[in-house]
Amino acid sequence: MNSFDEELNRRLAALRQQNLHRELRRVDSQQSSRIKIGSKTLLNFSSNDYLGLANDPILKEAAIKAIERFGAGSGASRLICGSLAPHHELEETLANFKGTEAALSFSTGYATATGTICALLGKNDIIILDKLVHACIVDAARLSSAKIRVFAHNDLDDLEKILKWAKKNIQHPTSNIQHRKRVLIVTESVFSMDGDAAPLRDIVALKEKHGAWLMVDEAHATGLYGKNRRGLAEESGVSERIEIQMGTLGKAVGASGGYICGTRPLIDFLVNRARSFIFSTAPVPAAAAAATAGVRFIQSSEGERRWRTLWERVEQCRTGILPISDSAKDGDRRDACPTLSAIIPILIGDEAGAVAASAALREQDIFVPAIRYPTVARGQARLRVTLTVTHTPDDVSELVAALQSIHNHK
Ligand SMILES: *Cc1c(COP(=O)(O)O)cnc(C)c1O
Repeated sequence: MNSFDEELNRRLAALRQQNLHRELRRVDSQQSSRIKIGSKTLLNFSSNDYLGLANDPILKEAAIKAIERFGAGSGASRLICGSLAPHHELEETLANFKGTEAALSFSTGYATATGTICALLGKNDIIILDKLVHACIVDAARLSSAKIRVFAHNDLDDLEKILKWAKKNIQHPTSNIQHRKRVLIVTESVFSMDGDAAPLRDIVALKEKHGAWLMVDEAHATGLYGKNRRGLAEESGVSERIEIQMGTLGKAVGASGGYICGTRPLIDFLVNRARSFIFSTAPVPAAAAAATAGVRFIQSSEGERRWRTLWERVEQCRTGILPISDSAKDGDRRDACPTLSAIIPILIGDEAGAVAASAALREQDIFVPAIRYPTVARGQARLRVTLTVTHTPDDVSELVAALQSIHNHK
């Protein structure tokens, strides 16, 4: 073996030793409440396809039609000759859905975060992140070379402390508006690994008080909150006061990609400056068309029906799991954050324990992944249960019983 592979094997061995090694699992079925892994069919509680759209005939049909009309590939970046009709239709649909002037779609949520944050900020600016924001936002902040400050999760006092500090450090050395330093706060609305919600109204009030900008990632809230299911910003009544509304198209929307919704100047600026948008081949037409169909579905009466069903399952699961998660070291999490979400974490703590719990569930043909560092902090390993409308009440009961049994055997 050459020294390169030896070195990598050493590093892999270190990961195994810490119970942090990961492996791909080949899934031989569509995305649904049942997935086929190896020879087994497992009851799946790990998908972010909350409304069961990834495998819906309407989305599949939209994708097939787009392939037939526009081909399998998009041929070039959006600014060269890849800006196909399905991309424009998606963006009109998104702006209309969110009630904003304009929207821009990206190939992934990850690319949305890096492209947008790096376009808006440079090395003289300050970016303030919630401690638990998604890795793509952390990476975007680093890549932007702005000064990074992190506030304790959902902690408004800590956020305000940092905003005051930022104000002091942002003495405008020049009246030239071009060189004025900026402060951007970034948070998720519903947090991906904790399922709790940011206090958006208070954050909006703080950012206005201190003259900062705000970007909210609605990856796990789009399609799930608000009268029109636009997200938590809608439910909190602050959509119009958030400068940059981000979301993804691969979760409740059922397709793939990411988006920014906002004013026309914001979108025009991103078209000119977001490098992950400019220097990347346009998403395939099928993805854009499926996403358009997904967003429209969410707005339909069938979308509303599924949304209701999902919350019934969430309620059933939470009620069943509460006694277990209560004793699992995070008793006060629930009180701190009464907002329900389709993400129900069961904190285990140590990595080996989480891996063992996941394996024990798999013995019972239930798939719930162990979430470990670096997705969450060390010592914060957990089972992350996600519910979708494709789960029946019996599926949820089966999960609750299985969790109960592994909890009793601890
Ligand atoms: C999934 C996710 C992303 C990344 O989106 P992709 O389309 O999967 O790249 C960004 N932010 C949050 C909060 C997410 O959960």
